[in-house]
Amino acid sequence: MIVGDRKPLEEILESIKDFKKILLLGCGGCVTICFSGGEKAAGLLASQISIARKDAGNPIEIDEATPTRVCEHEFIDELKDKIDSVDAVLSLSCGVGVQTLAEQYEDKIIIPALNTTFMGYPVEHAVWEERCAGCGDCVLGWTGGLCPISRCAKKLLNGPCGGSVDGVCEVDSEKECIWHSIYDRLKRIGKLENLEKVRDPKDWRTSTNAGQRKSEFKEAQL
Ligand code: SF4
Ligand code: SF4
Repeated sequence: MIVGDRKPLEEILESIKDFKKILLLGCGGCVTICFSGGEKAAGLLASQISIARKDAGNPIEIDEATPTRVCEHEFIDELKDKIDSVDAVLSLSCGVGVQTLAEQYEDKIIIPALNTTFMGYPVEHAVWEERCAGCGDCVLGWTGGLCPISRCAKKLLNGPCGGSVDGVCEVDSEKECIWHSIYDRLKRIGKLENLEKVRDPKDWRTSTNAGQRKSEFKEAQL
């Protein structure tokens, strides 16, 4: 799922300092599951903003809503009256949600309250780790299901590098060397021969390096 971290309160307060009435939007999708942008997070942020603005002698009126998903037009259509009545919208959705709002409500100021970080997996309660960077050309089929693009600091396709020691990454001693883990996994499933082939350099044109990407469903693909 998409993971995000709430921006620091100081940054949020600065971004809304000129407004007297805002709509604070939570999102009922991914960011609810990672606790950073759901209804509860929106309620907490609204309280923090109200107190800070009151203390600063510059009170603000905050309306709140948490649609099922901010990233789909049909779920934010119903917010039109609320959005029309405020100076700006502060959104706890991911960057896709913020842009959906900006495209649908062209004349309204839309402000992100979240830093969208990565596509990740919960490794323990309230801790997520990156698992996919959306590179557009998945290699998990020959790496034993472990991603060297999002989990190797050097994004190697022919790893490990010379710095891997006892399964630990040379770039960050707190992290596993994913290429060490790929080796172990391929050995376990009897596929070590996958490592005998030298892989060509990755074609990064399928990633964000070539600009905005588009995905179109074609029945012929099925
Ligand atoms: S290889 Fe690319 S698409 Fe596959 S999991 Fe890694 S980043 Fe995601
Ligand atoms: S030690 Fe492993 S994970 Fe770290 S950069 Fe080298 S190959 Fe990548």
